[in-house]
Amino acid sequence: MTTQSREIRLARRPNGEPGLDCFDFATVALPDPGPGEVLVRNVYMSVDPYMRGRMNEGKSYVPQFEIGKALEGTAVGRVIASQDEKLPVGTLVLSMYGWREAYVAPGFGLRVIDTSLAPATAYLGILGVTGLTAWVGLFTMAKLKDGETVFISAGAGAVGSAACQFAKMHGCRVIASAGSEEKVAFLRNALKVDYAFNYRDGDVREHLAKAALEGIHVYFDNTQGPQLEAALFALTNYGRVAMCGGIAGYNVPVPGPRNLIQIVGKRLRLEGFIVSDHFKELPALLAEAVPALAAGKLVNRETVVDGLDAAPGAFLDLLRSGAGNIGKMVVRLGD
Ligand code: NDP
Repeated sequence: MTTQSREIRLARRPNGEPGLDCFDFATVALPDPGPGEVLVRNVYMSVDPYMRGRMNEGKSYVPQFEIGKALEGTAVGRVIASQDEKLPVGTLVLSMYGWREAYVAPGFGLRVIDTSLAPATAYLGILGVTGLTAWVGLFTMAKLKDGETVFISAGAGAVGSAACQFAKMHGCRVIASAGSEEKVAFLRNALKVDYAFNYRDGDVREHLAKAALEGIHVYFDNTQGPQLEAALFALTNYGRVAMCGGIAGYNVPVPGPRNLIQIVGKRLRLEGFIVSDHFKELPALLAEAVPALAAGKLVNRETVVDGLDAAPGAFLDLLRSGAGNIGKMVVRLGD
């Protein structure tokens, strides 16, 4: 029996802000699974800002997407035909085969997820790579300690909202920024951060000065650009910066901070990281986050859009300041 699957391919490399014309839809016929393989129908897939870098030409820490080939990203899917006895029909698995409705793959590369502990989508968000990014940035890179003050940019997004909550759980004072009043209200009311502000409204440096009279110990940087510059002014001596992302410059590069001399005088440490170097830390995150989620102590906020056709638009929204998602952006593909 042949299974048809629609998939999304890179149609052209963007120059600056990508548009819907960067994406193509195609239908492919999937073979039956061979020995050790499974046929999986995706149920949810993730869209992620880092994919913008993979649309460019040139070398990076992950291979670039190829024109005419399907995009990829994390997805949760259900096994619908199996030649792998460890993955019976009905099993939910996590893979990198997103941006398509279905796929055939070796069973050994797929991770089984347990939805008795948390909803399937949480494994794309706070219990997955997203949550791990927040965890590693705060605790491994910036060595955030109980009682310290941390500033988190893009705080209402997927990584940011996880970081705000992990920092609060560890007894820290949290300052977070976001690009709309609705997002700021979410930070204040749902995540209970200590000081939330709209970085598009007023001077970020003034907000930080007001929020932390004695300065910030850690900056979790998702944006670079003007917020990094303001954070360098606000950091205390020996402050640390987890350089997680630079979304303010993903489409069009932004000028670097004009105050790098702050790093010298204050003996600051800024360090970049890539979450895939830290997968061994996932059990430590899960040990704390799974029970916290089950007990209602963590908020797993998501913005869910429906259908493969909506995926390019959902991705483009991530790159728009003040628009789009609160929490993790997820595309629902089935039941
Ligand atoms: P988000 O859910 O945070 O979505 C992106 C958000 O970025 C948007 O909702 C928007 O929020 C904000 N944004 C968009 N344009 C701008 C802009 N010009 N200036 C400031 N903010 C902007 O995405 P993720 O949580 O998945 O990713 C957050 C960051 O973490 C990204 O930089 C990403 O590349 C990085 N990342 C890094 C990893 C690593 O291994 N180092 C792994 C995963 C993610 P708002 O409306 O509030 O501006």
